[in-house]
Amino acid sequence: MVQKYADTIVLGAGISGLSIAHAAHSHDHAVLLLESSDQVGGSIQSYRADGYLAEHGPNSILIKDKQVATLLTEVGLDAQESQRANNKAKKRYIVHQGQLHAMPSSPLTMIKTPLFSLGGKLRFAMEPFIGRYAEHKNGHNEESFADFVRRRLGADMLTSAAGPFVSGIYAGDPEKLSVRHAFPRLWSLEDRYRSCILGAIALKLGAGGNSDQLAKGKMLSFRSGMHAIPKAIHDHLPHNSVKTQCAITKIKKTNAGWSVCWNDISGQQETTCKNLVITAPHHKLRDLPLPNSVFNGLTPVMSLDSPPVTSLVLGFKKEDITHPLDGFGMLIKQSENSRLLGVLFSSSMFDGRAPEGHVTLTCMMGGTIHPEYSENSDEIVLAELDRLLGVSGKPTFRHKISWPRAIPQYGLDYQNTLDAMDEVENNNPGLHFAGNYRGGISVGDCIVNGLELGTRLSTNEQQGF
Ligand SMILES: Cc1cc2nc3c(=O)[nH]c(=O)nc-3n(C[C@H](O)[C@H](O)[C@H](O)COP(=O)(O)OP(=O)(O)OC[C@H]3O[C@@H](n4cnc5c(N)ncnc54)[C@H](O)[C@@H]3O)c2cc1C
Repeated sequence: MVQKYADTIVLGAGISGLSIAHAAHSHDHAVLLLESSDQVGGSIQSYRADGYLAEHGPNSILIKDKQVATLLTEVGLDAQESQRANNKAKKRYIVHQGQLHAMPSSPLTMIKTPLFSLGGKLRFAMEPFIGRYAEHKNGHNEESFADFVRRRLGADMLTSAAGPFVSGIYAGDPEKLSVRHAFPRLWSLEDRYRSCILGAIALKLGAGGNSDQLAKGKMLSFRSGMHAIPKAIHDHLPHNSVKTQCAITKIKKTNAGWSVCWNDISGQQETTCKNLVITAPHHKLRDLPLPNSVFNGLTPVMSLDSPPVTSLVLGFKKEDITHPLDGFGMLIKQSENSRLLGVLFSSSMFDGRAPEGHVTLTCMMGGTIHPEYSENSDEIVLAELDRLLGVSGKPTFRHKISWPRAIPQYGLDYQNTLDAMDEVENNNPGLHFAGNYRGGISVGDCIVNGLELGTRLSTNEQQGF
């Protein structure tokens, strides 16, 4: 039985839509979640076979906000089910001149590392003495991540550390991403503390030593993989409030709010609501039957760049790899001309990712700079793994997932995208947009933004009509 009225209808049951529904339901708000695919979770999907565990999208969640830890506890993902990243995963490798070098983690290792030149290290040490950014240098009125890092930490730090880091998070081009929008926490360090280094030290000292498994700052996954999060949130929602395999056929404004028509296995359905929240990916918005006035206003959102990324998860016998894989993984400098963006040492990060005596490597390829590498053949990947990690022997496991539009890029004109969404919402009371194209791409950001919106809609009667 489908409810004829819901306080809020949410389109899309990825982590954003589920978080909105969770918060709204917690405030006794009637929610209906409509998902086009046959399962919840969106890009958070885990695949287990033959003793291996492969992630399609995110491999871990970094707990930066208390709301995220609270949500995980509320839906039963407590210390029993969650897994904290192994200690050795703290080590992150960068490929430099064909060799893996650990990112420095102390002043002594910073002095010793061959990753940066002597001039680069001295320039880095000068950072606390660099003043705040006073004026905008480019025509976009927006500073790129690359310009920010060059200005504060020096060019060497950009090419040897920060650039590869951007490939790892956004699969993006540091010259094209807005530092203010794509890395707001880094950007605000300069604003709040005048220096990124001093700011980072102050925040670390302030965080104190918290040993709680779900405490802030911890990198987590789950015994059954990352899909445990959407599954647990879904299982906590009332039966019948989530519908999968829904094809939305009509969205229209009514006197009291919105009406949504869709087809599912039970046939044609219609539900009216006060608030309609759209969390479908930005590149899918053009497939929705939106009123023309809404559709036209969303052009900047629909045209956000999202490069293709392929994740190839391979299993090997431990003895077939010479590198000890004692870390989180390796990121690769652009100057190395590698066909890979980076490789996660998944079975080193979390236990239970490979059978005894075996390991799992998650190879990421594609991204903004070399989208064509998302189509690398297995032979190319295996040759790279052999060159960099000494991998010989045939893979004992293989699972490949391609994301044609993987991660939205918060570029130098991203403010226009935000303004466009604000304008459409202001002109259409009760209509809202949420998802990884607004306010952060990480799983944690999507949860926080979703919880805030769900709470706002269900506690503020001014929302909607
Ligand atoms: C390869 C990869 C690796 C990543 N790694 C990490 C990581 O390690 N850590 C991290 O924090 N983040 C990572 N991310 C980012 C993070 O996973 C995503 O940004 C986040 O999961 C997006 O959630 P969402 O709900 O906003 O969107 P989605 O997950 O895209 O969910 C949107 C949902 O809307 C549905 N939908 C589409 N069209 C319709 C329609 N017409 N009607 C109804 N429903 C519709 C979709 O089927 C989907 O279920 C990664 C992403 C990718 C792709």
